[in-house]
Amino acid sequence: MKMKAALMYGPNDIRIEETEKPKCPQDGLIIKIMSVGLCGSDIRNLTTDSRKGNYPFIYGHEIVGYVDETGPDQTKYKVGDRLFLFPGTYCMECDECISGHSENCSNKEVSSLAGTGGFAQYVAVKGEKIRRGGIYEIPEDVSFDAASLGEPLTSVFACLENVKVGYPDTLVIIGAGPIGCFMAQLAKFRGAQ
Ligand SMILES: [Zn+2]
Ligand SMILES: [Zn+2]
Repeated sequence: MKMKAALMYGPNDIRIEETEKPKCPQDGLIIKIMSVGLCGSDIRNLTTDSRKGNYPFIYGHEIVGYVDETGPDQTKYKVGDRLFLFPGTYCMECDECISGHSENCSNKEVSSLAGTGGFAQYVAVKGEKIRRGGIYEIPEDVSFDAASLGEPLTSVFACLENVKVGYPDTLVIIGAGPIGCFMAQLAKFRGAQ
């Protein structure tokens, strides 16, 4: 079966094409993607030689959708479940992960579990990835579009945590996009004036 996807062939060379729909892993699942965020890092990755020649590749890491298919050995989720998927996987056990720099996870076996991204109609999720996390159920009253903002929201949360924003700080936020709005709201929750 085929699906449509935005494949990156090199810097600024992104083509919408028909490609093979991924096969459902025996112990994993297939997500039908309903919404995907376009991150600042996606723009950076799509406009530079981010994969050092290892193309074509599908980017997009702010993925939401529902379970379209489950493998026979997959027991955690069922068809129809609404999920948020962060495709990256970190071990959370190595020195880099423990020091808060999971982006540099040195456990290559775990980081290689990361699948392709969300600029496509479907994405496959392996069983080991399900066990490692990065998948969250979306509450019924949250729309797919709103849920796709979950990943930038966590980035903002971590950022405010790192600089320890709180009462009685005053913040200047430059830019009123989704990130700027999250900054303002979360800073207020943390006690900023
Ligand atoms: Zn992002
Ligand atoms: Zn790690």
